[in-house]
Amino acid sequence: MPQITIFEKSRSVGRLATRYRTDSGTGKNWQWAFGAQFFTAKTTSFKQFITPWLDTGLLQPWCAQVIDLTPVNNDTQTPDIHIKEQWNTVQARYISTPKMTSWGRTLTDELQYSTITFKTRVAPLAQYDNNLVEKGDKKTELFDDTGASLGHFDWVICTAPNAQATEIMAESGFAEQAKISEPKMLACYTLMLGWNSVEQLPRSLNNDRKSVWDVAYLNNSVLDRIFIEHQKPAHEDLLPSLTIHARNDWSEQHVDDDMEMIKAQLLQAARQALSWSDDHAPSQIDCHRWRYAATVTDSDKEALGILIDESHQWIVSGDWCGQGNIESCYQMAQQTVEAINKAK
Ligand SMILES: Cc1cc2nc3c(=O)[nH]c(=O)nc-3n(C[C@H](O)[C@H](O)[C@H](O)COP(=O)(O)OP(=O)(O)OC[C@H]3O[C@@H](n4cnc5c(N)ncnc54)[C@H](O)[C@@H]3O)c2cc1C
Repeated sequence: MPQITIFEKSRSVGRLATRYRTDSGTGKNWQWAFGAQFFTAKTTSFKQFITPWLDTGLLQPWCAQVIDLTPVNNDTQTPDIHIKEQWNTVQARYISTPKMTSWGRTLTDELQYSTITFKTRVAPLAQYDNNLVEKGDKKTELFDDTGASLGHFDWVICTAPNAQATEIMAESGFAEQAKISEPKMLACYTLMLGWNSVEQLPRSLNNDRKSVWDVAYLNNSVLDRIFIEHQKPAHEDLLPSLTIHARNDWSEQHVDDDMEMIKAQLLQAARQALSWSDDHAPSQIDCHRWRYAATVTDSDKEALGILIDESHQWIVSGDWCGQGNIESCYQMAQQTVEAINKAK
């Protein structure tokens, strides 16, 4: 069996991220899935892969009621809303419960032949070893960013977003270097809002205590989508929490702007979309910048697929080699396993 070592620079698993805050009075949480909100399982093999966690209830289909929402320019008017669709169990969108991070954590706990080392940044391959290309020995020595050796490996698989992969593989002699930067990844700003009680929610959200909608696609706004967290399956105990993603093109244009300014702009746009008065304003406001959030996909072009350098035994992979979503991570991992098996 292969022994796999995963190096991850952050403290925990990646963009299946959850942020939460506890109210000191009630002990209850506001909670925001501020990265991926849900994922699809369109292919048979990914459907099979997720079945055990669907059986335990860790993963659940989210049959959200989706609307189109057009903001109005006046706080006193409710926005223009049209029912768009209801996500169903046939073309399901799945979430992880009780948090989006739960699935990533469970996957990590169940790893049998892999160890995962957090808070370790792998240095660019060429940084500490200029003779990589000439080496007859196929093992690659990796280093962390302090120059400490992380060990020797038969295969190196890089799954960082492509801008970071470009840096990690730069000047290493990686055969497919030029292709890494082909897919374009755009940024995303995420606004997280919380209210102290359902009664305090704006009228556009508190329709008979439960909103008639769960997800809103926005028109004429810098915002792209609004997700109602406390209406997701197995999320009923949360304090009212909303996650709002800004449009990717707008986020990319403003990617280096001051965060406080961005937060104020997004809050203003959210207020316009949900039209709240001062006494229905959120009590929790937070904002996050994702530099590499969305891969631009072209329906006319085939996805890039993983990039293989057989002579070095290096692979560059990641969701951006496919459609840029969770299902693509699985598909690219499958391609990676197949490539390594074939090269044996
Ligand atoms: C705002 C947002 C919304 C999204 N919405 C959806 C959605 O609705 N549905 C969906 O399916 N997908 C969605 N996605 C995409 C989904 O989150 C990604 O497809 C998925 O998380 C990618 O996983 P990954 O492991 O390939 O990459 P990542 O999660 O990016 O993991 C790569 C990891 O590499 C680490 N790393 C980078 N450089 C180094 C280094 N030098 N050393 C060590 N570690 C390093 C990073 O810290 C990172 O954790 C969304 C993403 C964002 C940001």
